[in-house]
Amino acid sequence: MSDVPFDTVIVGAGTAGCVLANRLSADPAHRVCLVEAGPEDRSPLIHIPAGILGTIPRRGVNWAFETEPQPGLGGRRGYQPRGRTLGGSSSINAMIYMRGHRSDYDDWAALGNPGWAYEDVLPLFRKSEDQQRGADAFHGSGGELTVADLASPAAASRAFVESAVRAGLAPNADFNGASQDGAGLYQVTQRQGRRCSAAVAFLRPVLARPNLTVLTGRHATRVAIADGRAAGIEVAGPGGTARIDAAREVILSAGTFGSPQLLLLSGIGPREELARHGIDRRHELPGVGANLADHIDLALVYRSEDSSLMGITPRTALRAFKGYFEWRDRGTGILTTNFAEAGAFLRTRPGLARPDVQLHFVVGLVDDHARRLHYGYGVSCHVAVLRPASRGSVGLRSANPREAPRIDPGFLGQSEDLATLAAGVVRAREIMGGAPLAPHCGAELFTEGQGEAALVAQIRRRADTIYHPVGTCRMGTDAAAVVDAQLRVRGIEGLSVVDASVMPTLVGGNTNAPTVMIAEKAALLRAA
Ligand SMILES: Cc1cc2nc3c(=O)[nH]c(=O)nc-3n(C[C@H](O)[C@H](O)[C@H](O)COP(=O)(O)OP(=O)(O)OC[C@H]3O[C@@H](n4cnc5c(N)ncnc54)[C@H](O)[C@@H]3O)c2cc1C
Repeated sequence: MSDVPFDTVIVGAGTAGCVLANRLSADPAHRVCLVEAGPEDRSPLIHIPAGILGTIPRRGVNWAFETEPQPGLGGRRGYQPRGRTLGGSSSINAMIYMRGHRSDYDDWAALGNPGWAYEDVLPLFRKSEDQQRGADAFHGSGGELTVADLASPAAASRAFVESAVRAGLAPNADFNGASQDGAGLYQVTQRQGRRCSAAVAFLRPVLARPNLTVLTGRHATRVAIADGRAAGIEVAGPGGTARIDAAREVILSAGTFGSPQLLLLSGIGPREELARHGIDRRHELPGVGANLADHIDLALVYRSEDSSLMGITPRTALRAFKGYFEWRDRGTGILTTNFAEAGAFLRTRPGLARPDVQLHFVVGLVDDHARRLHYGYGVSCHVAVLRPASRGSVGLRSANPREAPRIDPGFLGQSEDLATLAAGVVRAREIMGGAPLAPHCGAELFTEGQGEAALVAQIRRRADTIYHPVGTCRMGTDAAAVVDAQLRVRGIEGLSVVDASVMPTLVGGNTNAPTVMIAEKAALLRAA
């Protein structure tokens, strides 16, 4: 056995890192070390689904990044929550289980990534899944990741689906099945009413493996490179700085913002960016940090008189208190809500080959990522552009690894995204104004008046991410690609990136399940 203590060192115990740690350590001869900057996932706010109201708006188990001022958003800075704990963003996300459109993966393959077409990746989605409705051609059972129907969806969520169907959308009971179009209740990554994060699903069950070491509270600061090969990583932790060596491979799974930041800090990236921060260039790779894509979103917000919703009221506080015992004893009730309980995929124009807008119906009044709270009850409808043309970038603010990366999503840089978002809002308003929703949905807040100019003004004043940044370490074969189709960093031996950052294009849907799939694929390629 080699003197080096680990074969593989994985940086980041988020969605991808937890899947990789499980799969790679399944071979008892493979010594794996998983390194996470954040703490263990002990906070009850992680495991009680409604706890996202506490984790998404603030720092703690969340990096709570701010973006550069966005010209497309009237010069505002956007907000980018990201998980900072075991499970990463899967410990603070809204738990919606969604794979995107099958054509998204065919697009990846067509862009020069063999092995990533829908027919190739479907078995991997099925492998990790434990679908509570049972297995079928699209779904797996017996996998680690529990996918369930919501335990106690609100009446308002069912009314949203009914209203969408009356507005002409098809009812869809399975967005991950034969067709994505239409409206329905979302399925969630929950097990008996508790969050089934990547840590709960993939990491906890294998923590006792002697060949798996998990280190929390260790912030990776650099990849150590010797003779064109990744030898290990440097970390800052409770005992100061340390080095962790890898005999075989260093895998960066630090996410769409963390992985390109680490490559840049290690001297791998565009020449000018490295020079600007005085970092020694180890390998020029112009695409590192480029190609950032994210779902731009506008939340329409409505007042409501429906006191069965979650509101900032004494009644809700009392129900939540009682709901805690129901959640603890039976895994049902008000605290099992993921808030974004229902949704829809729609096409804003005739002639489109697939949906271009996703709606998330939320059983609460969402203003500024729940960072601004309003007394009373409300509902919201998020409208997101599924395949934005705009691209942004991730870079460094300085060479200090503890400083947050520079994040510029470039939102609405391309005018077609604004047009799609505006068209989606028109459809969403039609649904929200439908008769089935009347008992749950009152006056709209934040409107700027009638007409297109008013709508554009509202978008510029209020739109922001719906939390799906990808693409900053894009896979491909061209000069700007960062990793190849095996997810190995081009030009450096023994270094890979495995997380949402490798997606060549943004999928038309939420990004957690696709990231699980990416890690499944990476593990399979390494076992071969
Ligand atoms: C608020 C929110 C809601 C969302 N809702 C949904 C949803 O409902 N459904 C869905 O499908 N997707 C959702 N997503 C998106 C989804 O969760 C992410 O796409 C997915 O988790 C990304 O996985 P990842 O492995 O790329 O990164 P992450 O899961 O973010 O993991 C990266 C990990 O690396 C660690 N790390 C970073 N830098 C370092 C460093 N230098 N050293 C050590 N560790 C480091 C981080 O702390 C983190 O644990 C949501 C995301 C957020 C933030």
